Amino acid sequence: MKTRSMEVAGISVIVERKKIKNMYIRVLPPDGQVKVSVPDRTTNAAVTAFVTSHLAWIKKAKEKVANLPVQEIPQYQSGEKHMLWGRSYPLEVRDHASHSQVSLSDDRILLQVRGASTYEIRQKLMKQWYRTEMKTVMPEVLARCTQTVGQSPKEWRIKDMRTKWGTCNISQKRIWLNLQLAKMPPECLDYVVTHELVHLYEKNHNQRFYAYMDQFFPNWREVRKRLNREATP
Ligand SMILES: [Zn+2]
Repeated sequence: MKTRSMEVAGISVIVERKKIKNMYIRVLPPDGQVKVSVPDRTTNAAVTAFVTSHLAWIKKAKEKVANLPVQEIPQYQSGEKHMLWGRSYPLEVRDHASHSQVSLSDDRILLQVRGASTYEIRQKLMKQWYRTEMKTVMPEVLARCTQTVGQSPKEWRIKDMRTKWGTCNISQKRIWLNLQLAKMPPECLDYVVTHELVHLYEKNHNQRFYAYMDQFFPNWREVRKRLNREATP
């Protein structure tokens, strides 16, 4: 396998020659590097022609990569950006003699930690804070959504879930909402609550289900797209 780079139409392209039958292009995250894999004996002219004929596709793919959320693992340290209800705030971590608490003040999230400020403690405090934020808005969101949908859960809980924004246990009439929703714009929580309540009419994601969604939350597709773009869950 031989790799070299060349420039085609102002784009830097990494060309990889190897034992394959067809040429193919990839646009790689995080920086949108274009990489072309080609059969061993392909000439530079053929590579150039191939890339040139895919310029529109490359441009689109580069945009997609640029819009990918940056997957950073937070350390919960001063200077980091953290989200609340779709807005980004700088985090300030401070030692606090008497107690630990998280608060939003002066357009920043203030994380005050009593005693040893380990990563685990900071993370736990932040999660508790997100949970409190969600608990604060939930009665209002639930009142609004149950009125629109005409169904109400017997019970709801906030869960720190990995793969789902929400779940509905239909027989128990119980909905679980992902803690991470507190980081998203408020309409995302409304959307997920509405979605889970609609499951009390219809178990499956079928036409009937989506007809209810269209009725109760007309721009649900847009909001869903936004949620799907997010890294977590
Ligand atoms: Zn569902």
